[in-house]
Amino acid sequence: MTSNPSSAVSTYDVVLIGGGVMSATLGVLLRQLEPNLSIALFGRLDDVALESSNGWNNAGTGHSALCELNYTPLRPDGNVDISKAVNVNEAFQVSRQFWSYLVESGQIASPRDFLNPIPHMSFVWGAENTDFLRRRHTALQEHPLFSGMSFSTDEGQLRQWMPLVMHDRKPGEPLAATWHPAGTDVNFGALTRRLVGILKGRPGFELHLGHEVEDLKPAGNNEWDVSVRALHGGAERKVRAKFVFIGAGGGALPLLQKSGIPEARGIGGFPVSGQFLRCTNPDIVARHHAKVYGKASVGAPPMSVPHLDTRVIDGQRGLLFGPYAGFSTKFLKQGSWLDLPRSIRMDNIGAMLAVARDNWPLTRYLIQQVLQSADDRIKALQDFVPSARKEDWELITAGQRVQVIKKDPTRGGVLQFGTEVVTGAGGSIAALLGASPGASTAAPIMLTVLQRCFGGRLPQWAARLREIVPSYGVKLAQDPELCAQVRERTRTVLQLEG
Ligand SMILES: Cc1cc2nc3c(=O)[nH]c(=O)nc-3n(C[C@H](O)[C@H](O)[C@H](O)COP(=O)(O)OP(=O)(O)OC[C@H]3O[C@@H](n4cnc5c(N)ncnc54)[C@H](O)[C@@H]3O)c2cc1C
Repeated sequence: MTSNPSSAVSTYDVVLIGGGVMSATLGVLLRQLEPNLSIALFGRLDDVALESSNGWNNAGTGHSALCELNYTPLRPDGNVDISKAVNVNEAFQVSRQFWSYLVESGQIASPRDFLNPIPHMSFVWGAENTDFLRRRHTALQEHPLFSGMSFSTDEGQLRQWMPLVMHDRKPGEPLAATWHPAGTDVNFGALTRRLVGILKGRPGFELHLGHEVEDLKPAGNNEWDVSVRALHGGAERKVRAKFVFIGAGGGALPLLQKSGIPEARGIGGFPVSGQFLRCTNPDIVARHHAKVYGKASVGAPPMSVPHLDTRVIDGQRGLLFGPYAGFSTKFLKQGSWLDLPRSIRMDNIGAMLAVARDNWPLTRYLIQQVLQSADDRIKALQDFVPSARKEDWELITAGQRVQVIKKDPTRGGVLQFGTEVVTGAGGSIAALLGASPGASTAAPIMLTVLQRCFGGRLPQWAARLREIVPSYGVKLAQDPELCAQVRERTRTVLQLEG
């Protein structure tokens, strides 16, 4: 940190806004590449990882397309399109390499602090879905990123893979599943705390919790004046930043709008909240060891694919089922009801209205979800766990996802379900919007931020980047030998399976 003599404000090379997995990942990456950078992280809550990155506020799936059917749509010609699945898996291999580097270099003591091997399964019923799953398996099994996936329609095999799901199931309906041992359950809250732990206490890093960023304005020279308010009685103050990362989760859109960069114009947000049923009854938990993903119902957004997950949070095992979608106008779980109305601007209202006009199936789906009773939720669970009893499951509220709405030349506006990195002002500011595949891909997303905002320094960072992520700059899907090496090394270092 330096003091700017003209205005006596503190100046940092990097200001990170938000104490979630995204800011923490970027902070650690930058620290590895340039240890002398001055970095300040401002988070509005009193600890890190209390919003979406918290262990129980997301499903903890290490998304690598081993089980999520929405990444492999059926093409009109009857073949399964695996291109998105390949990209998602490639991205997760980058995360695996980044985490392996942190473990090997002793910066994270044990992978078990945040990561557990849990098989990933897809599970469907009905002849048509069984046929789809078989085609999906055929398309994926030969690919170097997906090798090791098994498919079965045999009741005995399914019972062995997922005894709880098969218990008390009525006979007669065709069932099919795939199983992959390389699946993971990630406690992104624990990961965030470990990452911030790497930064904390080192010279040049400041952690300011209970500090809300209220505004940011250009200060000339591609620098930023960031206005910060201490929420426990402190005054508002300004700091100057040479680079700002808005990793504020749902709070990113309002801050991006305040920055005034042209790249933010026309962008809107649509919040969808998530709820899960959680079971901690040890007798039931012991009978399930997988993340089992099904098919989304018609009209449902991709992130509402139902799934039954083994979770490992701080050494305790539990089960999650969901998500059930909800509607709230808050952009953060601990946000304000005014978040959505306040985000509506002249430049994005057209796109938002166009999305409202074009997305009736989604609206209908959300209304149906919001009106669900406790019995309706248990009924949905019983599709997966026929023997489920209400008294063993509690409803918990997870994080908020703010889906990105963008202008579209033909339709006026479109709703996106992925993540979006927005950069501007000569690469001096970046923001992360959206939520899927989410935390699993924090490391590759932050590599994108480096490329777009620190491009001039990349040549000198390239060798170091390859130490951290050996596949940096290479598509694993096109290099089977490197792919096998990367999978094997990260499997060993992270104590994973398959
Ligand atoms: C229901 C649900 C299920 C999910 N399941 C998965 C999954 O299985 N796998 C997966 O990979 N991803 C999943 N995700 C997505 C994943 O949780 C998110 O992508 C990820 O946690 C986002 O991290 P973040 O750091 O951007 O945001 P967050 O973790 O939300 O952190 C944002 C931080 O910014 C702070 N903040 C906000 N505004 C300000 C401000 N003005 N000033 C200072 N600080 C501010 C907040 O307090 C918070 O600390 C899921 C998300 C949800 C909601």
